[in-house]
Formats: sequence, C-alpha cells, structure tokens
Amino acid sequence: DGGRVGLRVDITHQKEQQAALETARKAAEAANRAKSAFLANMSHEIRTPMNGVVGMAELLCDTNLNEEQRLFADTIRSSGEALLVIINDILDYSKIEAERLTLHPELFDLERIIHEVAMLLQPRARERGLDLMIDFDLFLPTRFVGDAGRLRQVLTNLIGNAVKFTEKGHVLVRIVGLETDPGQQALHISVEDTGIGIPADQLDHVFGEFNQVESEADRKFEGTGLGLAISKSLIERMGGSVWVDSEFGKGSCFGFRITLPVAEDQTVMLAPVTLRR
Ligand code: ADP
Repeated sequence: DGGRVGLRVDITHQKEQQAALETARKAAEAANRAKSAFLANMSHEIRTPMNGVVGMAELLCDTNLNEEQRLFADTIRSSGEALLVIINDILDYSKIEAERLTLHPELFDLERIIHEVAMLLQPRARERGLDLMIDFDLFLPTRFVGDAGRLRQVLTNLIGNAVKFTEKGHVLVRIVGLETDPGQQALHISVEDTGIGIPADQLDHVFGEFNQVESEADRKFEGTGLGLAISKSLIERMGGSVWVDSEFGKGSCFGFRITLPVAEDQTVMLAPVTLRR
C-alpha cells in the first residue's frame, strides 16, 4: 500500500534528521566549551605577565623620577590596569559560559562594601560634577553571608556605568529591605542616574554580552560590553534577578533583588578563634 510506505519513509527521514540535528548540537556545544576554555586559559596566561608590568610600573613610580619619566611610568601603570580590567571581564565571561564560575560565601558588612565602591568611584563622579549619593535603609541588618567580592563587582559595574553614562545631575544608590523569613533578608538595590538613558528598543538587550547601545562607528564611551552580562549571571547565580528601567535622554535605573542569610549572632561569629595546643 503506497500510503503506508510513504509514511514509513517519512518517519525514517524524520529520525535521521533528528539524529543529524542532535549531532550538530553536540558538536556546537563542544566547540563552545573549547572556545570558553581557550578564552579562560588565554586570559589567565595574559593576566600573570600583566600583573608584573603593573606591579613594576607602580614600583617605578615610587623611585626618584623626573616629571617626564613619572608621566611615562604612570601611563604604563594605568594602561596596564585598564587592560587587566578587560582581561578579568573576558576571564569571568568565559568561566560563566563554561559553567566554571563558583561563588565563595563569607561573612560581610553590606553597608561597608557599598561605601567602599562609592568611595572608589567618587573621584570620577566629582570630576564630572556629579552627586554620588547613597541611601541605605537604616532598619536593615548590615552583616550578611554571601560572596562579597562578586557583590562588590556587580555594584562597581552598575555604579560605574551610572557615572560613565551621566553628564550632569546625580547618581543615587538605594538599598531597601523587603520582608522575608527570619534569618534572611531580601534586598532591593538600585542605582538611579540622570544620564543619557537607553532607547526603549534597546532595553531588552543591554544585559546581553557584547551589547552596547552606541554603534561601533560613533563610540565615545570605553568598555567591553561584558559588564552587565557578567553582573546578570552573578546575581542569578546568587538566586536573584536584575532589571532596568530607562527613559532615553533622561536617565536610567538599574537594579537587582537578592535574598541573603543574615549573620544573626554577630558576637559569636565575630569572636576571634584561638587555637590552643
Ligand atoms: P560597557 O559599559 O563595558 O559597554 P556594560 O555591559 O556594562 O558594558 O553595558 C552595556 C551597555 O549598556 C553600555 O555600553 C551602554 O550602552 C548601556 N548602559 C549601561 N549602563 C547604562 C547607564 N547607566 N546609562 C545608559 N546606558 C547604559
């Protein structure tokens, strides 16, 4: 019966197609993993000598140099540091892609971290005449358990971007506590700016890797386009979520929400441990 044969042929054909697709998908995944591993290894290899260049340039700056020599040494140092930032982004991005990024939870003081990040970015904000303000919910506990280094990285990215993309006005960092179960605290952290804003049709894309609103041709801001993609992955790894709200020409508000365990009995956790023999 011609109809039945036709059906059988069709099913066999579909199975073959599926098998071919599966093979292609596996090959693509393997190639992607190889690419991520290559990027991670390369970045690591570049980072070591770059640390040497920056470290030695720093030492050189501390020696007896004339004005011109100091300028040269200082340029080597700052260019090296800029390159290290890029390399660290690529390293983080490739670790995330290869699912090799791990979090290291520790006890930390959230208010202190936010102030440290703000202090670091304050000179850049002041240079541009911006007010950088922090509004920390007074009723919040300050000591939490989480990956403080990664949280600092996310805050540096969001506040750094707000400063970078704002020409006048302010940058306001707001930390608000939301109601949660005992022993935990849900946090709502936002960074609001009065900067250039993001066109509505680009809002969905800013958290994607290598996505920058400016086109290659008229770029005036530096950056790799990886910061927000890394921040989003980090916050999601911490069980949180990120968002953005923006009005083109008026300003943006980037934020995230996470829930962290609160370090309750601070006296016990902070007591120094003495080892006796
Ligand atoms: P980078 O800043 O290195 O380009 P990011 O991933 O941090 O990369 O940001 C991606 C893009 O999102 C930026 O290039 C910029 O176009 C846009 N963007 C991020 N933050 C802001 C902001 N606060 N205001 C306006 N645009 C922003």
